[in-house]
Amino acid sequence: MTDPFSTVQQQLQLALGFLPPKKSALLKSLLSQPQTVIQFSLPLRRDNGTLEFFPAFRVQYNNIRGPYKGGLRFHPDVTISEITALAFWMTIKNSVVNLPLGGAKGGIVVDPKKLSSSELERLTRSFGTALGPHIGPFLDIPAPDVGTNSISMRQLTEQFGKAAKNLRIKYKKSHILATYTGKPVDFGGSRGRTEATGLGGLYVLDTAIRLLKLDRSQTTPLTVAIQGFGNVGYHLAALLGANGYLVTAISDSSSGLYNPNGLDAGFLSNQKKIFGSFAKMKHPGTTHITNSQLLLLPVDILIPAALENQITEDVATNLQAKLVLEMANGPTTAAADLVLQSRAIPVIPDVLANTGGVIVSYFEWYQNLHSIRWSSNKVFQRLNARLTKTTCSIFRLAQKQRLTWRTAAFVSSLERLDRSYHLQ
Ligand code: NAD
Repeated sequence: MTDPFSTVQQQLQLALGFLPPKKSALLKSLLSQPQTVIQFSLPLRRDNGTLEFFPAFRVQYNNIRGPYKGGLRFHPDVTISEITALAFWMTIKNSVVNLPLGGAKGGIVVDPKKLSSSELERLTRSFGTALGPHIGPFLDIPAPDVGTNSISMRQLTEQFGKAAKNLRIKYKKSHILATYTGKPVDFGGSRGRTEATGLGGLYVLDTAIRLLKLDRSQTTPLTVAIQGFGNVGYHLAALLGANGYLVTAISDSSSGLYNPNGLDAGFLSNQKKIFGSFAKMKHPGTTHITNSQLLLLPVDILIPAALENQITEDVATNLQAKLVLEMANGPTTAAADLVLQSRAIPVIPDVLANTGGVIVSYFEWYQNLHSIRWSSNKVFQRLNARLTKTTCSIFRLAQKQRLTWRTAAFVSSLERLDRSYHLQ
């Protein structure tokens, strides 16, 4: 398995090669390693009375552009290297879309599916208490990621309020709320945050398709395969279906589903609630496929929306899609990227494609700090404007300097980080 941090280093090195030597040297030393790495051992009293400890991390990669920002992942395969890579990508992506935020990521090495709901709540609150002294509305602002959601964010925010009180730090209520984003709407969350990453992906995809002149015709919609049916995959599948695309394949960790006539995300979501997993579902016209088969289907657009390292060199050599939209973080290895480049298959990179979530997280932070609420329309309009503008400017830079979309996004981000460094 490719170490995600080695992918990071190769992507960074490649982009630095397109900057003047002095700038490149400065950014290399600035971004080669994280500023802070915090490790925790979280106690959890299991329902049967035994005490267990779970390793957890928060990596604060860089704050040259503003407070650290990035999600919390609960997954059994979480490693410090993975979290460090994800924290680096947050630094790059927040700068790509010009947010006044730095990059961070955190996580617990745990399989949340193996805990009861009260055990999961106790472990989440335990993390919230441990994170307390290291985060804050102008220091580090966590959010959801794989295995966490708005309920986790509510529990963590409540825990932050308690931790601050114990540490005798006085925060206004609005500042306590502004310490986490992705909260429930009735608990200081922003309207539109839940679907923001998927919606952002749709805005980026629509714009990229127009720029690349891959436009669908009225009679033959563009076909799509999506790996992952969590927060990102589900919302994007539903939005694509409602916007003229034909989603023919979707997977969760148990299995993929394929139907050449199209899959309905709303229907699948309801079925998943009943059967628990795609592997257990049966539906006429729909066949079960493996996650590996899904990646190689004859579709127009392939969307990895699960975990890292899914598009390997072998997959890149054999995939049939005309375009890859990276909704997961780090789904393509550096070697696979080179293969896709040589095959002239455009890859819309994670650091652009999946920024909808962090952009609306930024809107949520802003609304909390100013004690205001925006309508869904205002959130969506601002998200669309920012992503359409950024997608066009990355495309223009890629064309002008003959770069891939990823390298163009990195170059644009690094230029901004350099300007912030000199301003400081
Ligand atoms: P999630 O936990 O809600 O869903 C993850 C999905 O991936 C589930 O459907 C799960 O079954 C599936 N999955 C897990 N392992 C798999 C495997 N080996 N093969 C195929 N499918 C597998 O997570 P999410 O929030 O939807 O995040 C998905 C990806 O998007 C992650 O890379 C995350 O970092 C990235 N992302 C999420 C957000 C956000 O706002 N949630 C924002 C930006 C990027």
